[in-house]
Amino acid sequence: MHRYRRCLCIGSDTKQEELEYGFEVGKRPILMTCPNCFNPQRTKISYFSTNRTDIAALCLIPFLLCWLPYCTPFFRRARHYCSVCGIYIGTSRT
Ligand SMILES: [Zn+2]
Repeated sequence: MHRYRRCLCIGSDTKQEELEYGFEVGKRPILMTCPNCFNPQRTKISYFSTNRTDIAALCLIPFLLCWLPYCTPFFRRARHYCSVCGIYIGTSRT
């Protein structure tokens, strides 16, 4: 089990994948044909925090709203994955 997990980590080089399928995407799931499995599908999204999220949180501390940027997609970037095969498709610009 441990061995399998380690192989997975080495095998998934995000930088490499980003170069390969650097599609321009927004923050909402999009309908597209997957470049890997060629299935028409709606992308799966995972949001992640950036410096911008942290700065927004710092600015909102006086208003006790510092949790807000972490809960809204507006201050976070979105990574898109194929919902069929799970391959990385692209990341939103902001
Ligand atoms: Zn796919």
